Amino acid sequence: MGRLTGKRALATAAGQGIGRASVIAMAREGAEVIATDVNDAALESLSEAWARLRTESPQGDALGQIVTRRLDVLDLESITEAVQAVGAVQVLFNCAGIVAHGTILDCDEEQWDLSVRLNMTAMYRMCRAVLPDMIAGGGGSIVNMASVASSVIAAPNRFVYGATKAGVIGLTKAIACDFIGQGIRANAICPGTVESPSLEERMRRTDDYEAARRAFVARQPMNRLGRPEEIAALVVYLASDESSYTTGTEHVIDGGWTNT
Ligand code: NAD
Repeated sequence: MGRLTGKRALATAAGQGIGRASVIAMAREGAEVIATDVNDAALESLSEAWARLRTESPQGDALGQIVTRRLDVLDLESITEAVQAVGAVQVLFNCAGIVAHGTILDCDEEQWDLSVRLNMTAMYRMCRAVLPDMIAGGGGSIVNMASVASSVIAAPNRFVYGATKAGVIGLTKAIACDFIGQGIRANAICPGTVESPSLEERMRRTDDYEAARRAFVARQPMNRLGRPEEIAALVVYLASDESSYTTGTEHVIDGGWTNT
């Protein structure tokens, strides 16, 4: 039996990066996962990867499953439709988020608005849509993706990113506090820098890829970036009943960036 056997999980931004690693890790532990993203090609590639993994795995039937579904978290109608179609879940993993580069002086109204809508409003809407059925079903676990660049620590040129990820932590704690009596747990995850397609793209967009990579690695005392699978392991723990006494927390998982 897997650590998440019997649980249904809904995840956003599951097509690549930490989201993809996390839905695979949850399904490996027996969960029935509804993996959503706005990128259809990424979802197709996830489905193919999961089908291969299932065929090759010696665990066979003990594995859960991954069902993919398009969901644009910027669109309230898309959220409402998806949550209605999916029905009750015991785990919600809100992973969607974007990084905007720059200080407050670089952050125009458009950049501010998009970051707030994607990093925070989408999470508010997802939680609000999922909670009633989760409560009616006896409870569940909400895992929200923040970042160590938030209220934990400031990173240079991460003005609106840090502000919105701090908001994610506040939103998560508020939900944990309000619904603790109804079996709901809510926790935030605060990674340091993790290898992902969007990080790779950001480094490639700079004039000097190697220098950009060295600068990211230099922030990490372990002298390497994190791997999506390392964050996925924490998602599985927080989604599972192993973390039944844990709620309202921010989990720093940053290769020693802030505490060494
Ligand atoms: P990523 O940025 O490479 O991928 C993001 C995914 O989000 C993509 O599949 C994309 O299609 C999807 N997405 C974008 N807009 C969407 C929308 N409107 N609706 C639904 N899906 C949408 O992945 P990542 O770097 O692993 O980041 C995932 C999360 O982890 C983000 O919230 C990010 O802020 C957070 N995070 C990442 C790092 C890191 O270093 N990679 C560190 C800390 C926190």
